[in-house]
Amino acid sequence: MGRPAMSSDSIIELHNVSKVYRTRRGEVRALDAVSAVVAAGEYLALRGPSGSGKSTLLALIGGLALPTTGRVRVADTVMSEVTAAERAAVRAHHLGYVFQMFHLLPFLNVLQNVLVAAPQASDPAAREYAAALVEQLGLGARRHHRPGQLSIGERQRVALARALLNRPEILLADEPTGNLDTVNAAIVLDHIDQFHQAGGTVLLVSHEEHALGRAQRVMTLDRGRLNSN
Ligand code: ADP
Repeated sequence: MGRPAMSSDSIIELHNVSKVYRTRRGEVRALDAVSAVVAAGEYLALRGPSGSGKSTLLALIGGLALPTTGRVRVADTVMSEVTAAERAAVRAHHLGYVFQMFHLLPFLNVLQNVLVAAPQASDPAAREYAAALVEQLGLGARRHHRPGQLSIGERQRVALARALLNRPEILLADEPTGNLDTVNAAIVLDHIDQFHQAGGTVLLVSHEEHALGRAQRVMTLDRGRLNSN
């Protein structure tokens, strides 16, 4: 799948990546010549004002969108050069994605929502792991509830459990504590820490100091331009 890795210890590499959205009102340059390397096992945070391109950057790494120019590599795959099916395979095998808006399915309960990520929802090992994650995230008593019956904090934890189900190497989290109270935010951030301590790579989008403080490195996006610090 794709080309071999460009350097062995980096798991994500962005080379001169630009993304231009073309709308009826004209062009929006969401990302402008962004280059960055994320080492395997690194915990990296990305901050920047609203509209600076953070979600777009995550979507490009997650293979949900393609750059207008430049290269995006995740593990061994150059996402910007493969088919949508190959990008989906990278998502399934390497990535856990926590969306800002959760994207839970309203008609499925907590366990079923987590199992949506499993290649085979009927697989006993997947079911067992989904139940364990739900328990670990403090949702055991809620496992048969639907998203509409959950608090925002609980929904965010379901979204995190779903992202972790396939034991990804990389966790992409878009403002995972954005709408949470301090208690729920700490639960989510502690689990992300655990994932990182177990060897996982984290890319966390946030503007909150308590979340940014967990990262080893913080990058700042400003109107589509990246400043590393
Ligand atoms: P952030 O996550 O930092 O708030 P985004 O990546 O969501 O920033 O957006 C960056 C810029 O791109 C913004 O100006 C936004 O309005 C624009 N944008 C994002 N998605 C689209 C889209 N699908 N079509 C047109 N413009 C978009």
